[in-house]
Amino acid sequence: MNKNSRRKFLKNSTMALAAGTGGLAIACQDIKKPKISVPYINYNKTYEWKITTTWPPNFPVLGEGCSHLARWIEEMSGGRLKIKVYGGGELIPSLESFEAVSNGAIEMGHGGAYYWAGKTPAAQFFSTVPFGMSFKQMNAWIVTGGGRELWEDLYDRFDLLPMLCGNTGVQMGGWFNKEINTIEDLKGLKMRMPGLGGKVMARAGATALLVAGAEIYTNLERGVIDATEWIGPYHDYLMGFHRIAKYYYYPGWHEPGPALELIINKSKFLSLPSDLQAIIRTAAYRSNTWVAAEFDNKNAVYLDKIIEEGKVSLKSFPDPVLNRLREYTDEVIQELIEQDEDSRKVYASFDKFRKSLHQWSTISEKYFYNKLM
Ligand code: CA
Repeated sequence: MNKNSRRKFLKNSTMALAAGTGGLAIACQDIKKPKISVPYINYNKTYEWKITTTWPPNFPVLGEGCSHLARWIEEMSGGRLKIKVYGGGELIPSLESFEAVSNGAIEMGHGGAYYWAGKTPAAQFFSTVPFGMSFKQMNAWIVTGGGRELWEDLYDRFDLLPMLCGNTGVQMGGWFNKEINTIEDLKGLKMRMPGLGGKVMARAGATALLVAGAEIYTNLERGVIDATEWIGPYHDYLMGFHRIAKYYYYPGWHEPGPALELIINKSKFLSLPSDLQAIIRTAAYRSNTWVAAEFDNKNAVYLDKIIEEGKVSLKSFPDPVLNRLREYTDEVIQELIEQDEDSRKVYASFDKFRKSLHQWSTISEKYFYNKLM
């Protein structure tokens, strides 16, 4: 802060303090009123939209979050914008929503940006990458740290507008039937692991398989796969993995804070009256908070349940294993940014932001969790 801006800051602060003792009028005069142009809005026109999700119909937390989002938009718009929610597979297959929203066949979609790595690899940085950022850090990067602009720019060529719309928080490392004591223990392991995490596992000598949610339990039970990751205690408990696996490992190094996204057909969004556009943005913010809160709330309850039932052993990956996985992650990301210009640009912002947070996170959140909780 230079001398002039410091003087101005102190002047404004003093006025704000004075406001409490009769100085309110002076403080208010000092605030420049923003010019708000009031556009013509036809309040009798109603819109009926569809949202398709990548989750099964009524999927806990994620599907529920979409239903809330639709309800909040309808409530805030006084019924002028109605959104019908479709689970994955009800209208189109789960992983076709990017295409369907992009070409305008469906107005909205809910999912995770890493599902679109095949369309645009840089999208992965807007969900999560191994050893990336936590929920709080991702929020900071995307909301005010420059991430949003890069994300919108990346999706613009698909006529899509992305918005943050939930976060699972740190996921669990996964379910295993043998102990992981050294990196060698991952060799030859067939594990369900999507995305960049799967590529990292492959470097450790494991075979990473992408198995659809509905088939994981049977595959693990029959030994088609030796291990699997899924989400966190709540969803993992509902899947019943604690009945067929011996070890439940943490942390989810591969998914430290996956952000979830709302994608909207951009042309259709821009054709809405400005108040409905603002309502969608506001509902997405609310849903972002609700989903993250519900994950923490339910995961805490179900972790206790898993422990109380006493059938599995809860273990952390040893530090040398995590350190090696981090090295492999650096190699995988390096390869990605060498091949793709967008990824290089997005990763530069992602990595710079993550590094800039290091000191602050270390003496605030990390210290609190380690020492005060
Ligand atoms: Ca997962």
